[in-house]
Amino acid sequence: MPRFRIFLSSNGIVFSNGSKNVIADPAGSGSEIVPDVILISHAHTDHVSGLSDIYRPGIPVIMSPETYRLIRLNGYKLRSSDIILLSPGENIILNGIEFLARHAGHVIGSLMFEIDFGNIRIGYTGDFNFESSVIMRRADILDCDFLVIDATYGTPKYSFPPRRILYRLIRKKLREARDEGYVVSLHGYALGKAQELTRLAWEFLGGSISVEKKVGIYNRIFEESSGIVLGPYTIGGLGDSFIRDISSPQAPRSKRFIFTGWAATRKFDNAIAFPLSAHSGFLTLVDFVERIDPQGVIVAYGFTSFFSKYLRRELDIPSYPIPLIPRELEFNPIKTADRRLNKNHFY
Ligand SMILES: [Zn+2]
Repeated sequence: MPRFRIFLSSNGIVFSNGSKNVIADPAGSGSEIVPDVILISHAHTDHVSGLSDIYRPGIPVIMSPETYRLIRLNGYKLRSSDIILLSPGENIILNGIEFLARHAGHVIGSLMFEIDFGNIRIGYTGDFNFESSVIMRRADILDCDFLVIDATYGTPKYSFPPRRILYRLIRKKLREARDEGYVVSLHGYALGKAQELTRLAWEFLGGSISVEKKVGIYNRIFEESSGIVLGPYTIGGLGDSFIRDISSPQAPRSKRFIFTGWAATRKFDNAIAFPLSAHSGFLTLVDFVERIDPQGVIVAYGFTSFFSKYLRRELDIPSYPIPLIPRELEFNPIKTADRRLNKNHFY
């Protein structure tokens, strides 16, 4: 039986069947592995910053059209014949390996992948959100034998309230601030959260909305690619609500609101913070894994050891943190064949 390995190199996650190497989300540098295919799940820096280090002309790079647009803005250059753009539901076969793109629900253009090596089908989530928001539907379920998952918030202290409830709390606090005569300054990551915040400001407050320049660029790309309007807003200028990056200074004489999953455990000075995240919270992560019910789970980001231990202990699913050295995957070919026969059993 061919050997199959998944591990974390110094330049991204490696899927290797012995003769072919696929690298997902190149970040970092120094790896000597020459990939046959590169996957980019989305345009956040920690998933793409190592691309220039590992890419050589002739290596196909798979990503969504939106991610390509975003990384091009950041100056990444690829030979046009190497660029393979997939939207959710689209697939391509390269070197005998099938890559199927799935919707990740994280930020503009974010993808998950099902990678079929013939004898085994791997699901790779990248960053994902298995909960819908006002601007994006939740991540797709993956059909796979083994799951490689992001667990940024993989401990129970990051069990966020459902978005429906959070939205209600946010609406109340925003309206209170407005009724007290404040201008509000809403802060979240410019790529991802800020698009949701623009839409929430429109729905909850109306009035004039001013977004900072980088938020405006991402908002426009989001609107053009999704067809979803985020609201009437201006880039720069004055407003009743300001939408800014999490690290940008707040608008003058405003009340500051911060939106990040870390708000579940951290206090922020002079700000009202909500655990509104573009990642799945703990319970949502567990729900996602349970619905897929894979043969095994490799936890690749975040609380890797806690989350893998939890899956082993509570769900009896073999699971471990992604290893730094190649480790052979143990899988059951009978179960693999069974999954193929009953492909849609979980929908
Ligand atoms: Zn991300």
